[in-house]
Amino acid sequence: MELKFVPGVGPKRAELFASEIHVTTDEELLSYFPYRYVDKSKVYRICDIQGEMPYVLLRGKFSVFEELGAGTRGHRYKGLFSDGTGVVECVWFNGLRYIKDSVHKGEEYLLFGQPKESEYNHSVQIVHPELEPAVKNGVDAQQSLMGMYSTTEKMKKCMLNSKAIQRIILGYLQRNLAPFPETLPAYIVDQLHLVNYNKAIRQIHFPPDPEALQKAQVRLKFEELFYLQLYLIRSFKMRQQANRGFVFSRIGDYFNDFYFHHLPFELTGAQKRVLKEIRADMGSGKQMNRLLQGDVGSGKTMVALLTMLMALDNDYQACLMAPTEILATQHYESLSAQLEGTGIKVALLKGSTRKKERDRIHAALADGTLQILIGTHALLEPDVKFRNLGVVVIDEQHRFGVEQRSKLWLKNVQPPHVLVMTATPIPRTLAMTVYGDLDVSVIDELPPGRKPIMTIHRWDQQREGLIRAMRKQLDAGRQIYVVYPLIEENEKLKYRDVEQGFENMQAAFGPEYSVVMVHGKMKPADKDAAMQRFVSGQAQIMVATTVIEVGVNVPNASVMVIESAERFGLSQLHQLRGRVGRGAEQSYCVLVTGYSLSPVTRKRIDIMCETTDGFQIAEADMALRGPGDLEGTQQSGLAFDLRIASLAKDGQLLQMARNIAKDILDKDPLLEAPQNNILRRRLQTLFAHRMDWSRIS
Ligand code: ADP
Ligand code: MG
Repeated sequence: MELKFVPGVGPKRAELFASEIHVTTDEELLSYFPYRYVDKSKVYRICDIQGEMPYVLLRGKFSVFEELGAGTRGHRYKGLFSDGTGVVECVWFNGLRYIKDSVHKGEEYLLFGQPKESEYNHSVQIVHPELEPAVKNGVDAQQSLMGMYSTTEKMKKCMLNSKAIQRIILGYLQRNLAPFPETLPAYIVDQLHLVNYNKAIRQIHFPPDPEALQKAQVRLKFEELFYLQLYLIRSFKMRQQANRGFVFSRIGDYFNDFYFHHLPFELTGAQKRVLKEIRADMGSGKQMNRLLQGDVGSGKTMVALLTMLMALDNDYQACLMAPTEILATQHYESLSAQLEGTGIKVALLKGSTRKKERDRIHAALADGTLQILIGTHALLEPDVKFRNLGVVVIDEQHRFGVEQRSKLWLKNVQPPHVLVMTATPIPRTLAMTVYGDLDVSVIDELPPGRKPIMTIHRWDQQREGLIRAMRKQLDAGRQIYVVYPLIEENEKLKYRDVEQGFENMQAAFGPEYSVVMVHGKMKPADKDAAMQRFVSGQAQIMVATTVIEVGVNVPNASVMVIESAERFGLSQLHQLRGRVGRGAEQSYCVLVTGYSLSPVTRKRIDIMCETTDGFQIAEADMALRGPGDLEGTQQSGLAFDLRIASLAKDGQLLQMARNIAKDILDKDPLLEAPQNNILRRRLQTLFAHRMDWSRIS
């Protein structure tokens, strides 16, 4: 039913519901769940209210009403509300007529609102309180949990506050007493001992007690996660069927020659395992779409190289795409060096590549003599045409959107295998949802011989000790990063800190040691030159903004100083720290902060000092910030709206939902069995508006 036909809504409010909170039907209204509950058994005494407080529940009566002022601005209605221990002043600016008609002196009410101290006379004031008769139909209204619905300023202006929404839902439920039909197959409801849909939906809005509320929540959270997983896994399977992949049946000379004669180190167990997973994928006849997660420094690049060699062995070309020119260049240089003597042709394509070189690359790609192309977004240009592209590797995935990934597919008639690598440690629960349609491999082991990075917190004022410690490292031949945050509020101040820091470092360590600076406002050529001086070891200190966050590899750098560390998010801090600790030396990360730290910031710093495990950090990050905020989820293009479940808190339910969804689809891929009809229909209603993700990776 269209929402405007639900009694109490009407066309005007229906428009607000649609534009403000995207609720357009009665069914969506029922799925608009309270965001929290107020325990109405806990009533405050007015004499205990002091100054500013959060929302409180009071029980009492009005003694006096008064209409004040005139005109739209000053006009208001005032009432004195007392519970015998004190008096609060209630004020209404909107909807005066309704309040005058419906609220009466002498009757007992439950009042819910946020008390504020008035500036004039220090009396306690509550503006636009929510009211409800304390006794309804002879039943005390105080005994239950009250759902709170989030609304917007615009809705509140039109008297659509939490209470009003609650009233509309209550009316709707009372008019529809016939049980709502079940939305999950009976076998799932039974197996998991869930409460039925009808009960859950009624009790989530009007819980009789905490236990009933919890059961309703579990049922509805499970359902939400389950259908999401069912949808994602089914799309994934459909896509696999639609797109047959190249079969790489051979492991040939390129791979073997490199593996046995050029490999600079023994692969870690994790690298070997992941390569086996990739090989199985590419040999299976389905098209690979794999996400490779591995903490910074875990050796993803070598996996990428070996994967590309598998393509070459089967007469296909390969490409590796990186998010920045610096990173693409570094990949190109290290891969070219490693491939020296193998006869494999590699080229680098960047936005700044000259026309002549570009033409040469285009020609060599087209006739197949160029086997591996490394580059930036420039690879996506339509004039980059491969003779036979078999594998695409995308490094540092969170910088690329789904749309860009799909462009790569068009580089060949038959879509190539795709390996997406990310160092952003994504908690398993989130990966499952955001990348539910990708296979996931994890490198969970660092190359041997690495000493864990020691992380230290220093106050802004403790400079001298820090400078001494830095000098010690420099004297031992090490290199140092000093990173500043970008301060965004004020364009003009943006680079002041970095520039100041650059001068400070020169004053402290020059001319003995050479300092370079890299930040986003510099010309690419200058940036590259400075970067190059540091990479080659000519410069010992690099002062930079976060441009070095992604990917750069300088094993001799052993100290990472992060200035104003309180301004960085956890995962960003972790990424930055990952720039050191790549060689055999003991490495250090120093987090420098000011004295006033919020509790959350304090916690971030503590976590950084306690652990270097990216996954542990990601979990903590999600708990501290909530998943919506996690870097990368926005750009992934798969930001799902969850109405009730929380990725941070409901990991176990998600895992369960995923297992069950997988199981069902393994046995009944098209959901044709009679007991699964309900699933097919439900998927159609829930995801009808989504575009067809099955075509793109
Ligand atoms: P990331 O996963 O962050 O991209 P890299 O691929 O840049 O990590 O690897 C980090 C460093 O570790 C590089 O210097 C690389 O040569 C080295 N490395 C990778 N795998 C191994 C290994 N199995 N044994 C020793 N060193 C390795
Ligand atoms: Mg890397």
